[in-house]
Amino acid sequence: GSPIDAAFVRRWLDTAATVVEREAAALTELDSPIGDADHGTNMRRGFVAARTAVEQEPPDTPGAVLVAVGRQLISTVGGASGPLYGTLLRRAGKQLGDEPAVSAAQFRDALRAGVDGVAQLGGAAPGDKTMLDALFPAVDAMSKALDGGSGTADALAAAAAAADEGAVATTPLRARKGRASYLGERSIGHQDPGATSAALLVTAFADTARE
Ligand code: ADP
Ligand code: MG
Ligand code: MG
Repeated sequence: GSPIDAAFVRRWLDTAATVVEREAAALTELDSPIGDADHGTNMRRGFVAARTAVEQEPPDTPGAVLVAVGRQLISTVGGASGPLYGTLLRRAGKQLGDEPAVSAAQFRDALRAGVDGVAQLGGAAPGDKTMLDALFPAVDAMSKALDGGSGTADALAAAAAAADEGAVATTPLRARKGRASYLGERSIGHQDPGATSAALLVTAFADTARE
């Protein structure tokens, strides 16, 4: 497939920041019955800071862009999602090293390393009703698509579809990690905000590849 370079990841950041802005109210709404009604605000603050930082000093490798975004999320987002998304993107970026352009398979490997980092940091497993319920299926679907011969855009589209499905499938789950877990049984019946934002971020990659 077509290589993923710094410009690609910067276009992703623009798309992601725009989508987060557009969906901020909806994300906060999801975080209100099973959280503290700040997920949209948290994500918006993080992505505004990340976009500003990357515009001011544009990194010239895809890995360095991801690391820069991750760093901003960690330092500006107060909630649990900041360090978790920050770890995802920093790990993924570090895994890419200083290559000027990477293949879809290398990118998939980097995402997998990032998602494993989130699982390590937060101690959540699949089915715990967290962002991982969108992220794990996304990486698996991307892998499957690449193994089947798909190019970058199709593989990312498969990842986005799986992330969406994973986010929707969090609704009947009982939360076992994060604030929502304090509600026990009462967390059932609500879609997880972090899984929803994760699907938005993966979809932004798919949209970037289709442009
Ligand atoms: P906070 O809960 O601190 O207010 P946010 O509202 O920004 O932070 O983010 C909440 C989201 O973070 C949840 O919907 C969930 O997807 C994710 N999350 C929380 N704890 C964990 C964890 N331990 N592992 C993975 N994801 C988590
Ligand atoms: Mg919250
Ligand atoms: Mg909070």
